[in-house]
Amino acid sequence: MSDDANLESFREEARAWLADNFPSAISGRGAELVGMESVSRDPDLEKWRVALGEKGWGTPTWPAEYGGGGLSQKQAQIIDQEMRKIGAFNPLPVMAGMGITMVGPTILEYGTEAQKQKHIPPICRGDVFWALGYSEPNAGSDLASLQCKAEDKGDHWLVNGQKTWTSGADHAQWIGCLVRTDFDAPKRDGISFLILDMDQPGIETRPIELIGGSSPFCETFFNDAKADKDEVLGELNGGWTVGKRLLQHERQSQTGARASGGAAAKVTLQDLALKYVGADDDGKLADPDLRARIADHLMKAQAQRLTTQRVIAEAKGNHKVSAAASILKNAASAVSQEKDELTLEILGHQGLGWEGHDFQDHELAAVRGWLSAKAMSIYGGSFEIQNNIIAKNILGLPETTQKG
Ligand SMILES: Cc1cc2nc3c(=O)[nH]c(=O)nc-3n(C[C@H](O)[C@H](O)[C@H](O)COP(=O)(O)OP(=O)(O)OC[C@H]3O[C@@H](n4cnc5c(N)ncnc54)[C@H](O)[C@@H]3O)c2cc1C
Repeated sequence: MSDDANLESFREEARAWLADNFPSAISGRGAELVGMESVSRDPDLEKWRVALGEKGWGTPTWPAEYGGGGLSQKQAQIIDQEMRKIGAFNPLPVMAGMGITMVGPTILEYGTEAQKQKHIPPICRGDVFWALGYSEPNAGSDLASLQCKAEDKGDHWLVNGQKTWTSGADHAQWIGCLVRTDFDAPKRDGISFLILDMDQPGIETRPIELIGGSSPFCETFFNDAKADKDEVLGELNGGWTVGKRLLQHERQSQTGARASGGAAAKVTLQDLALKYVGADDDGKLADPDLRARIADHLMKAQAQRLTTQRVIAEAKGNHKVSAAASILKNAASAVSQEKDELTLEILGHQGLGWEGHDFQDHELAAVRGWLSAKAMSIYGGSFEIQNNIIAKNILGLPETTQKG
């Protein structure tokens, strides 16, 4: 059979499986049930998570031997397309915290066989939530300054120190941390990537409330916390390389979903504008300037989506840390924030609400989304730091004079 015929028959298979397994009651409700800040425990959502996890289609391109789908990129795209057609969505990347988007791919590359067997299958099923402990109060952009330390105690690692901005740490089962394991080595050479079980008395989390009104991240304190001896990911003192690779995965994961409105977005900017601003006699959006700016935004979003797909396809199998993810991350942040700005402009005075009966739910969500999206150009490495990486690694410009 030709490649095309194989893909067509796979499309039929995907369609049939989705028809049998996706609960129609949650069609189109992805954004509401699996928001970035909360995951509902709707019974249909739970049924869907289990079915998707067992099939491995929540992580379609991951190896089948560890619980992934073992599929090609093209097959994964077909699943995505077929899901969109029926209002289905993949909740697992949000339900696993940093598990699917960041830690899992890094364990698949750097993990021992035992680490892969232990950690990857629960991530593929969406059974566990992972947090990430990189930043510290004095080590954000200048990450290599981190001071949280892990001492070798023979049969385990003893961890002491503080992390901050740890997203979802208060309900995570696991955390992947960068810790200092050698204080005498040059700062980037004394860091290791350590995996810790969050369910232990030596770890305390304190949620931090955000400008958008929610509290998805925490300060995390390690007070004689313990990690198993075999939970160093990659080489001991080689954590800088592992950590950079994970950040590349993070940036890649932030390059498309939100900018395109996400798989579950149903109302487009055009629909919204027609509803709030109105149409002229020809049925076109009444405000020509806004019309032009929406068209410009949609073209940028489409270019962003296509470029992301191309870069991800090119990067497949190429494990070299590339600066392309930095370009895409900055572009995606800009496109996404532009969409939020346009949305608020379209809503007019209905885009000024924080709570109350004068506003509809989607209007309040737009305001909170606009505020939350400000963080997109900070997390995963700030906008300026990505520009530094692009300047140095792509344009060949000299290192910035500031530390970073
Ligand atoms: C919503 C959100 C979720 C997050 N989740 C996590 C998480 O789960 N785990 C985790 O470990 N961290 C997380 N972070 C932390 C995030 O990675 C850091 O906030 C980020 O790396 C910036 O560090 P900082 O806040 O210390 O700012 P700073 O490093 O103090 O930077 C402040 C400003 O100075 C600029 N700047 C700093 N150095 C330079 C330089 N050399 N050149 C030019 N400009 C520079 C920065 O770009 C920024 O604009 C999260 C942050 C946010 C906002």
